[in-house]
Amino acid sequence: MRIGIIGAGQLGRMLALAGYPLGLRFVFLDKSADAPGAQVGSIITGEFDDPARLRELADASDLVTFDVENVPVEAVRTIADRVRFLPSVRALEAAQDRLTEKTLFEALAIPTPKFRAVDTLAGLREAALAIGYPGVLKTRRLGYDGKGQRQLGSEADLESAWTALGRVPLIFETCVPFECEVSIIGVRSVSGETASYPISKNYHESGILQRSVAPFVEPRLQSVAEQYLSRLFEHLDYAGVLTIEFFVCDGELIANEMAPRVHNSGHWTIEGAVTSQFENHIRAVLGLPLGVTDAIGHAGMLNFLGRLPPLKRVLAIPGAHYHGYGKEARPRRKLGHCTVTASSPAERDRRLDELLAIFGSQS
Ligand code: AMP
Repeated sequence: MRIGIIGAGQLGRMLALAGYPLGLRFVFLDKSADAPGAQVGSIITGEFDDPARLRELADASDLVTFDVENVPVEAVRTIADRVRFLPSVRALEAAQDRLTEKTLFEALAIPTPKFRAVDTLAGLREAALAIGYPGVLKTRRLGYDGKGQRQLGSEADLESAWTALGRVPLIFETCVPFECEVSIIGVRSVSGETASYPISKNYHESGILQRSVAPFVEPRLQSVAEQYLSRLFEHLDYAGVLTIEFFVCDGELIANEMAPRVHNSGHWTIEGAVTSQFENHIRAVLGLPLGVTDAIGHAGMLNFLGRLPPLKRVLAIPGAHYHGYGKEARPRRKLGHCTVTASSPAERDRRLDELLAIFGSQS
């Protein structure tokens, strides 16, 4: 059985690494021949919207999934008729556009920041008047890791933000004074079986995930987040892993965005949960029984942004699990991560501090 993956980034690589023990093979579509997936599978080189390359991927695969959500929906529709494609094109479409996504959250009674669509400078002024400051202006599509967004403190910021981001559809939303950010990762199989991981608490730096700790033990929030997940699962008739990122504000969850795929804030599940998000994604799309999602002790994950720390020093930390993606170093680029596991939150935090000190000392 061969799984096709659109995108051969680190997520695709980790999907393949989780799938090999199940006896699966992998083929990727990516514009870069030396993307991380190339280390663990064959690569078809091409753009995601190249119909010929997509057909090639479909013909080489028994099932196609993706590791990025910025896959052009129209192009993908053409292969969804040739080969099983999961999560569905509909789920992909819903998550690609921040306006559709937030409208769906509202329709399913999942709290989300107040928002307005913005298409002109005059529209931006109206949105800011209706929603107030501080606000965040974001591109509706193709934004990730804090790219394509601007914080707006007052009317004085409107024109420069419009110039920087304008001429594409935008969304203006209220800036949430959150206590912290968390995410839930859930999985639904094609058979309808569901499971979810303990919530993780996430720390971002300039819009990029810097580290996550799990489990974030808040039974009430866990149960609320699971209800939100199940509403999305049902509505989208979903199959695969689905992530929702939240702000915690006044003790309540406010959904920021969802991702119809495995997620950076779930890397800790590789060593910190009974079954990783990667293996469960594969099980779900193939209709296999889902694996147990319980945490094994306490885990902390640090992203290596822009550079990699020395392997030897990191591995000297007890419970450290190092992952290098084989990517060329560029400022702020995700080059690898490390998960530390421990039997108590205090020990986990000590190990994470040690890891942070090693990584920090390299700058
Ligand atoms: P996003 O690209 O929407 O995931 O945003 C990246 C990061 O920017 C989030 O993880 C938050 O730290 C911050 N952010 C985005 N939207 C908001 C908002 N409406 N209010 C406060 N912070 C935000």
